[in-house]
Amino acid sequence: MQFSYQFDVAGIMVIFTSLICAWIRPKLMKNFGFSLKLLICCAIAYNILDSLTVILLKIANPRSYYITYIALLAYFCVLYLIPYSATRYFYELCGEDGKHKIMNAGLGIMLVFATFGNIFFDMFFSLDKNTLDYEHGFGVPITFIYYLICSIMVGICAFRHKRYLGNIRRRLLFTVFLITVFNLLYQAFLPEQSLTGLIIALAVAMTIVVFCFIDVTVDELTGLNNKVGFVRSCDELMHKQDMSGYAMVKIQVYHMQELNERTGMENGDRVLMLLAESIQKCVDSARHKAVCGRIGGDTFAILTEEEISIQTIKNMDLSEAISNPLTGMDYAVSFYAGIYRLEDGDKDIDKMLDHAGYALKWVSGNFKTNVAFYDADIRLEDEHRKSVEQRVRGAILDKEFKVYLQPVCDTMSRQRVSAEALVRWIDSKNQMINPGDFIPILEKNGFITELDLYVLEEVCRILREWINQGMEVVPVSVNFSRVDVDHHGIVEEIVRIVDKYNIDHSLIKIELTESAFNDNMENIIKMLNQLRSHGFIIMMDDFGSGYSNLNMFKDMPVDIVKIDMYFLRNIENSEKGMIVLESVVQMAKRLGLKIVVEGVETQEQYDYIRKLHCEMIQGFYFAKPMPSEIFSDQVNAG
Ligand code: C2E
Ligand code: MG
Ligand code: MG
Repeated sequence: MQFSYQFDVAGIMVIFTSLICAWIRPKLMKNFGFSLKLLICCAIAYNILDSLTVILLKIANPRSYYITYIALLAYFCVLYLIPYSATRYFYELCGEDGKHKIMNAGLGIMLVFATFGNIFFDMFFSLDKNTLDYEHGFGVPITFIYYLICSIMVGICAFRHKRYLGNIRRRLLFTVFLITVFNLLYQAFLPEQSLTGLIIALAVAMTIVVFCFIDVTVDELTGLNNKVGFVRSCDELMHKQDMSGYAMVKIQVYHMQELNERTGMENGDRVLMLLAESIQKCVDSARHKAVCGRIGGDTFAILTEEEISIQTIKNMDLSEAISNPLTGMDYAVSFYAGIYRLEDGDKDIDKMLDHAGYALKWVSGNFKTNVAFYDADIRLEDEHRKSVEQRVRGAILDKEFKVYLQPVCDTMSRQRVSAEALVRWIDSKNQMINPGDFIPILEKNGFITELDLYVLEEVCRILREWINQGMEVVPVSVNFSRVDVDHHGIVEEIVRIVDKYNIDHSLIKIELTESAFNDNMENIIKMLNQLRSHGFIIMMDDFGSGYSNLNMFKDMPVDIVKIDMYFLRNIENSEKGMIVLESVVQMAKRLGLKIVVEGVETQEQYDYIRKLHCEMIQGFYFAKPMPSEIFSDQVNAG
């Protein structure tokens, strides 16, 4: 009797693994296509039938011949269906979807075999009707060959598609292959001690665990691909399909965070599911010509023909209003999309996503349209961004950043009482790049802190040089970005640099732009208080350029406000503008703050500011930013 009693260990293992996975990660069952489900069912059925036939054969009651016969028949069908479903599953996993003729023919033969094959070879001749003695006829060698062919098919398939499998899947396939070989050898040498059931159960359980917990390619919330799954699916699609006319689309829900905060996480999730459903519908309608996924919290991506992508976006319907559970008020939901048309030879999926993402970033916040193509203009901007990012580190080392100084004058005496350090990038081709063209980029990639500290060091170096030459020096203000506030140890770093050049702290002013004051108030107040306690003067830059909360103004440890030049534009013709400016000046004065008015260009503006009794003025009216040597020459001359 070559059957062994295995159901207790192996069957239970598969059943439990499947149930636990289904319970913990129900959405991920989407990873389980038809073949994998069939495989699981077969593994369970195999173990049940195995135990049943063992019992029936042990009872050996000739009256139960037909029951035993049918149980054995079912047992053999399942036994051969297991490699069939496993092969079919791995075959699909490798990205074959029914196009490969030889593979499909192989699967067809296997299926026929699974259904009928063994009956003729084994059953009719091997089960004694009277004694219920079972003897192996051709069974063992046929099973051996069958399993061998299946392994070879899986092996060929995996080899053909190894690029698209991913490490985990590759290792899984290899392990299953080893298990199969082990099983075959074991059976060949110890036919009486079959471990088939246990081994099959082990391989299936392992597959389930890997796909539920390790190689997760499905997003749990929406059931779409996640980032890993999306990239893999794109790779597969690109392998099978000609990509001309294709586009990569990135879609993002507008203000997802705000939506979550205002209407609750559940509503946020509903929006994501709604969007996912729309996307899935369009992808389904494109049949095998499109793939999609949720590649980030609020971001989806689709790789499809351009026409379909446009249609998808048009059809996307988020009009179902989301209501705030507390107020019952509706909240309109919208989305943005960035589209990148693939070019000949495009293979790099990250690059496509990056381009579509840049178009998306470009269009977000735009009120006129919610879709942008990565076109010539956007490309130029993007290339500029990348070139800045690539060149900036070298530029600091090569000292391409120069500090320019712009005088700040006393309004009444017109004397220079201070200066502002403004950075200029003069690149290797001697072209000057203005801060507006690179500072926002450096703020995004975090490089700005290094640059700001470099500017501070340059200012200290220049001041030290002048002091050593016996020149009279004025305080210099240095701009710090809002990003610097979150930089750990920034205050200590500032103090270290200033002390290194032995510069009196009162000669350094710190400028922080107004909009920085709107977020992370706590950090800012802490940082500014520390700087103040070290004797630095604090300035709020660009006051009036943003939408400041006037209330926070009173809490901020600031000594000087710089009123933004925006206030001065057309001030002569705008009575309302004047009223606002005058009120701001009054308020600052009453709070005991000094005022610098920026961007004064004309005599009229100067006269007007004088009348308001603002202490200091900075602008082209007096002087433009200039290299420090020219600044010092002017001081010496004047
Ligand atoms: P900001 O700190 O408000 O600097 C004043 C800007 O106004 C400077 O532009 C200056 O050249 C310009 N300006 C001064 N007077 C006039 C005028 O009368 N008319 C006009 N139209 N413009 C005037 P710049 O140098 O291009 O700098 C732009 C911004 O870049 C600065 O605004 C500042 O926010 C930032 N920035 C400059 N250097 C640095 C730096 O070293 N670090 C950081 N984090 N930001 C910097
Ligand atoms: Mg400034
Ligand atoms: Mg300013």
